[in-house]
Amino acid sequence: MTLSDAELERYARHIVLREVGGAGQMKLRAARVAVVGAGGIGSPAIQYLAAAGVGELILIDDDRVDLSNLQRQTIFGGDDVGTPKVAAAAAAVMRLNPAVRVTRRSARLDAGNAADLIAGADVVLDGTDSFTVRLAVADAALTARVPLVSAAVAQFEGQLAVFRGWEPGKPCYRCFVGDDPDRPETSCAEAGVLGAMAGVMGTLAALEVLRAITGFGEDSAGKLLLVDALAFRFRTIGLPKDPGCPECGGAAD
Ligand SMILES: [Zn+2]
Repeated sequence: MTLSDAELERYARHIVLREVGGAGQMKLRAARVAVVGAGGIGSPAIQYLAAAGVGELILIDDDRVDLSNLQRQTIFGGDDVGTPKVAAAAAAVMRLNPAVRVTRRSARLDAGNAADLIAGADVVLDGTDSFTVRLAVADAALTARVPLVSAAVAQFEGQLAVFRGWEPGKPCYRCFVGDDPDRPETSCAEAGVLGAMAGVMGTLAALEVLRAITGFGEDSAGKLLLVDALAFRFRTIGLPKDPGCPECGGAAD
């Protein structure tokens, strides 16, 4: 297993990084990443993952491109309005990096199909804006023991965390949010979101996927990154495992 001359040139700026190198680039090429939601967070994430040479992207979204998406979903253009997002995003990946395989899963993820939709993924990136969907993604990723990179954005704020709740001392998504299915959902449509904030959080989510695959730097699981664009501030806080968590509590193996 080696990198071709074209790959050595395309990924030269990765390969020169001591923490990535040729070995890391080959790990990226061998990796399969599921991206749930090709929206404001998914758009930049898909572009950076494709550019980075991730071997396969599984794109999961049942929506079509809407004119009001273009303010932040920069993977799409005006000609894509009305097109299924997974089709338009797959075409964009082909333009960016034809070596990346795209598996389109044009479906609404729920608790019943989540395991099937993310099957085979080495990392799951969740950029959806529905709490119900987030719980379903998180439960499926935990059961499959696949790292979950979870990014969220609203107005001028963003949150990012990586979950590997099957590991001792590492929280799962439910340790963080609880499991109240009746929590009110505030969508971007109602609350608004600064387009560039979605770009920031989606790009950070892509970075965490690349970290999960290649293993550079410190482990990000067990922490929560909070971004406040109004205050010009990034903060990181610890995210403890909940010993009473019904999903992962007591999972010490
Ligand atoms: Zn938990």
